[in-house]
Amino acid sequence: MNEHDSEKIAWILENMGYLPVDSDEEADIILFNTCAIRQSAEDKVYGKVGSLKPMKNANPNKIIAIGGCMMNMDESRDKILKSHGHVDIIFGTQNLFKLPELIRGLSSNNKRIVDVKAEYSVENDKINAIYSSPYKALVNIMYGCNNFCTYCVVPYTRGREISRDPKQIISEIEKLVDKGTKEVMLLGQNVNSYGKSLCNNYNFVSLLKEINNIKGLKRIRFMTSHPKDISDELIESWPQLDKLCHSLHLPLQSGSNKVLKEMNRHYTQEKYINIVNKIKATVPDIALTTDLIVGFPGESEEDFEKTIETIKKVEYDSSYTFLYSPRSNTPAAERDDQIPHRVKQERFEKLLVELYPIALKKNTNEIGKIREVLVEGIDKIGENLVGRTLHGKLVNFPGDKDIIGSYVNVKIVGANTFALEGRLME
Ligand code: SF4
Repeated sequence: MNEHDSEKIAWILENMGYLPVDSDEEADIILFNTCAIRQSAEDKVYGKVGSLKPMKNANPNKIIAIGGCMMNMDESRDKILKSHGHVDIIFGTQNLFKLPELIRGLSSNNKRIVDVKAEYSVENDKINAIYSSPYKALVNIMYGCNNFCTYCVVPYTRGREISRDPKQIISEIEKLVDKGTKEVMLLGQNVNSYGKSLCNNYNFVSLLKEINNIKGLKRIRFMTSHPKDISDELIESWPQLDKLCHSLHLPLQSGSNKVLKEMNRHYTQEKYINIVNKIKATVPDIALTTDLIVGFPGESEEDFEKTIETIKKVEYDSSYTFLYSPRSNTPAAERDDQIPHRVKQERFEKLLVELYPIALKKNTNEIGKIREVLVEGIDKIGENLVGRTLHGKLVNFPGDKDIIGSYVNVKIVGANTFALEGRLME
């Protein structure tokens, strides 16, 4: 979500005449799009913003702006306001569309501007984006969240859940396809509840069916699903939706029913496994990924073992694992049974010991198979082409860069925990 907001911010700035530069020194404007999901992300922002003070003192015309989720949190915003007087503009997640006005306003009266709006505005949907890939695009289908998981700041930073008009979404994707996009990632905090704010029977599956009919589009992905809202209709429709990728990100967070209840997740380990079994029965080659939190307040060894037990039963292709990070004003942060950092770290390491061999086994199972890959670009060392399979797995393979942007068949010849190696088929 933040990545796509940054693409939109880049478009706004380029439309105002700004161009990207290589260093802070050269920049006329330095803009931070912040994340508030964990303390470590926030701390990086304070450090980086603080380090710009001498540069701002030397060049008062340089504009420093901060937006994103942190600025929608009172405590973080106050910290910036009190300790970082050199910041010129503070804006929120929901008023990106106002950025040109805020920047021009600063130029005319030279006073710090704070404009943080907590609710969705359709004006944000009119902003175009500078997409990081010409072949793949992130597309918002909804904003905000109503779930109030007890550890999470998103409902406070991005407001209540609201679904975009399906006509707007379809039109946006059609325009992207006309410009060369082949693959879309539909974005929402909980895409499975898409449509609830539309007051008719149009739901996520209705939207997927329409997107699946768009000529020229090749693949559809979506992120993120909440297990409590994933419907039988979606699972049963999957085989008919021929553009829908065979990958599902289904955050588990914890395998303990006690912890899940305290997290306000509204599912149990049994219900979660039941969903996974249904999906595996309907889409046998589905690649499953997840989010896991270790060290939620009050998590006992027994609770943690339940997470390990669930991992072994589900067998994830990959996962994002986090140490629980208390977020101010969330119920979990107020609890007095916080887990010591040392214990969180130990559990985190134990989780990786379980997760990595499973991921390696799943990737090793790919060896010998021929997979269609969207060639996305060149790897970081400039040696191989990189792309992703229908299952979302990253493949590195030798080839001519002329085929970037096309779908090619690749034979999988090697695997590690995080990626596959391939050989281009004739
Ligand atoms: S569903 Fe996701 S975004 Fe919403 S409160 Fe829970 S963790 Fe946060």
